[in-house]
Amino acid sequence: MKTVVLKFGGTSVGSIDRIKKVCKIIAFYKKNRNRVVVVSSAMSGVTNELVNKSKLISNNFDRAEYDVLVSTGEQVSCALIAGRLKHNGFKSRSWTSWQLPILTDGPYSSARISSVGIKELNKYIKSGGIPIITGFQGINNDFRITTIGRSGSDATAIMLAKFIKADECIIYTDVDGVYTTDPRQHNKAKKIKKILYDEMLEMASLGSKVMQPTSVQDAKLNKIDIKVKSSFVSKSGTLITGSNKVFSNQIITGISSTKNDAKITIVGVKDRPGVAASIFRPLSKNLINVDMVVQNISQNGKETDLTFTIKSEDLKKTERLIKKNKSISYKKLSFDKDLSKVSIIGVGMITTPGITYRMFQALASKKINILVISTSEIKISVLISSKSVKKAIAVLHKEFKLE
Ligand code: ASP
Ligand code: MG
Repeated sequence: MKTVVLKFGGTSVGSIDRIKKVCKIIAFYKKNRNRVVVVSSAMSGVTNELVNKSKLISNNFDRAEYDVLVSTGEQVSCALIAGRLKHNGFKSRSWTSWQLPILTDGPYSSARISSVGIKELNKYIKSGGIPIITGFQGINNDFRITTIGRSGSDATAIMLAKFIKADECIIYTDVDGVYTTDPRQHNKAKKIKKILYDEMLEMASLGSKVMQPTSVQDAKLNKIDIKVKSSFVSKSGTLITGSNKVFSNQIITGISSTKNDAKITIVGVKDRPGVAASIFRPLSKNLINVDMVVQNISQNGKETDLTFTIKSEDLKKTERLIKKNKSISYKKLSFDKDLSKVSIIGVGMITTPGITYRMFQALASKKINILVISTSEIKISVLISSKSVKKAIAVLHKEFKLE
């Protein structure tokens, strides 16, 4: 007998009708083979409404009460699911996370799950029951309710799968898997059958919003295979895994892109040890996220040009911080907005030479100008004008035979 964890996202339980459909999926697993554990998110929109209410009460709403408030949406959806399963003749009950308990460390609204109490849960599962567990939350050492970050129900499912030693963890959502690139940007995007954690992490943090990066990180650390599937259509999904023996000889797995990037270049910076740190210190203090960084040394070795990217919304603030930074001197400051980062991702590039060249050549063939380049072991990113993103994705998708 297999143990499966099924996680349902907000849109999957977004209405009474959807909840009834979800119960049919749960029933399918139960009838077929398995011990079934369910994790649910709040009905879509509910968590946002709760967040808005907190803002209407105070623009400095108490952090602990915030977690008590925004965690309530899951209690509703779990009770409705369990109620419907009982209506259909199954043994089921809801479990809020403090009842298990799901223990967490760290600050309110971004705590991390440290352990899951499984004694009662296992007894209940063995007796044939289907537990329905609230995602996104836990309790801390003071027995107070915590939440684990927006979209955190994925992480709840992954940690539950770990602690009950589940055979499978299936994330049901409103898309039927992870695609080679955003299907809205490129109509030849194809569903990926299997993707490695590291590739998924790159895809997730580079703008493919199927799963939250910290959840993928949890899955990787705990070696939990995840299947992403749609609760709306019955189709095979995408497997996110750490084992690469099952992989084809595809070199590039996917292409992702960002929006709203901006570029800053500081020309003729007096070079000395520590100068890069002096430039970035105030930015980091102000929580400005710096992404790509390129530093060039001048020929006389006394000056350096520094280029880096940030999100457009941080541009004004960054400009101010650099201008009032007394610890650096430079000749010129320049800015660019409406830029995007396009990245090709795939572990295959570790062992295949010439990928960088093929990427640049493909972009050149469409006269797309590259502003900044950055690479890691399994990813090559270029910064280009946002206007050219669609074209860039199309030519790269074709070049790397993703269609
Ligand atoms: N309901 C929570 C949120 O909207 C958690 C989740 O969806 O996973 O962020
Ligand atoms: Mg959600």
